[in-house]
Amino acid sequence: MTSSRKLLVAAGCLGIGAAAIALGRPVKERPAASVLAAGPRVSVASRWRTNVDTIRRGELLTAALERAGVAPSEAAEALRAASALDPRKVRAGTPITARVDPDSGTAEIVLHLAIDRAIRLTRSATSWIEKEETLPWSTDTVVVGGVVTSTLTGAIAGGAGAFPQRQRTELAYALADILEYRVDLSRDLQKGDSIRVLVERQTAPNGLVRPGTIIAARLTVDGKPVETLRFNQGTRVSYFDGEGKAMRAAFLRAPLAFRRISSVFGLRRHPILGTVRRHQGMDYAAARGTPVRALGNGRVIFAGWRGGYGKTIEIRHANGFVTRYGHLDAISIRTGAAVSIAQTIGKVGSTGLSTAPHLHFEVLVGGVHRDPRVALRNVTGEPLAASQREAFASLKQRVFAMLDGAAGHDGPARLGGD
Ligand SMILES: [Zn+2]
Repeated sequence: MTSSRKLLVAAGCLGIGAAAIALGRPVKERPAASVLAAGPRVSVASRWRTNVDTIRRGELLTAALERAGVAPSEAAEALRAASALDPRKVRAGTPITARVDPDSGTAEIVLHLAIDRAIRLTRSATSWIEKEETLPWSTDTVVVGGVVTSTLTGAIAGGAGAFPQRQRTELAYALADILEYRVDLSRDLQKGDSIRVLVERQTAPNGLVRPGTIIAARLTVDGKPVETLRFNQGTRVSYFDGEGKAMRAAFLRAPLAFRRISSVFGLRRHPILGTVRRHQGMDYAAARGTPVRALGNGRVIFAGWRGGYGKTIEIRHANGFVTRYGHLDAISIRTGAAVSIAQTIGKVGSTGLSTAPHLHFEVLVGGVHRDPRVALRNVTGEPLAASQREAFASLKQRVFAMLDGAAGHDGPARLGGD
């Protein structure tokens, strides 16, 4: 972390409906189009007219340019010079700026392709010149988090204004991708659990923000912390737990990706019977067609119809573990096939004794049904080499001090209540 980066803290606590803490300047967000539209739509400086327009849905770029005052022959010439641009791939809503002289014609066309990218086409005496412009995003570091009331996404969304809603969801998914070897986020989280994330925040020239790299996080589930931090081993960068063991492990904790089922939380009741019942496995409510993933590397020992389970897959893993996936809509592997961790093996369905799409999932150890949470409790990744532990410990101390807000803040403090 460079010292020029600011540490800003934005933590929320939805659970008790309290206001969040926010240190630092609030970032105002304005979509690119509104920034352009905010100025006069036609400004007259001497004879030049600067016309601003956006491409409409289904409209050809040339038609939009014409509306912005560019003659068709000029548009064709200008676009021939635009090698960095595929005119067919310019999206609806893309703002266009054209500088047009009523007598001599168009002098310049700017296509604002993204917040941070524009293509400027300028007419010289003999030809059109293309210039691709990228605007730098600035990066600082923020802490976001909160208390879980319904979902992880919700907990992050409960934080103060570090990120807009959609970006918070993105951040929750990115976090889930790191934690999915340790926590079944769709089932293990309970009301009152909490999350804190130290993450880079990238700010566009127009004020839009998006999450960057996750530096560290602490998820507290049932009072127990699951810590993770990003560590550079020299040859590669990856995530480790607080004890210096790789987050990546031999098994995922859930057969469905969190981003596919994040709307479903803690299914306590059986999706079919509507009651809580003793049950030799776990049911994941999910839409028909949701991809089902192999929990770990292994070999398919059964793939086909199995009575009430409907279309079923069974995979044998190392150490006598067998995983079973039932009620599938489709099976995409064959008996005998080798599968790797997280590989898509089929799709959620409602075959067999099932009346609504869901995945029935079981873990058997030595032929006996086990609660996956118990069976996988001690499955972790490889520990760091002894030679790296000192560097890791020192990074961990610094990074978690920032996560916990113990580091100094160089931004202006603006404290709300918590
Ligand atoms: Zn079931």
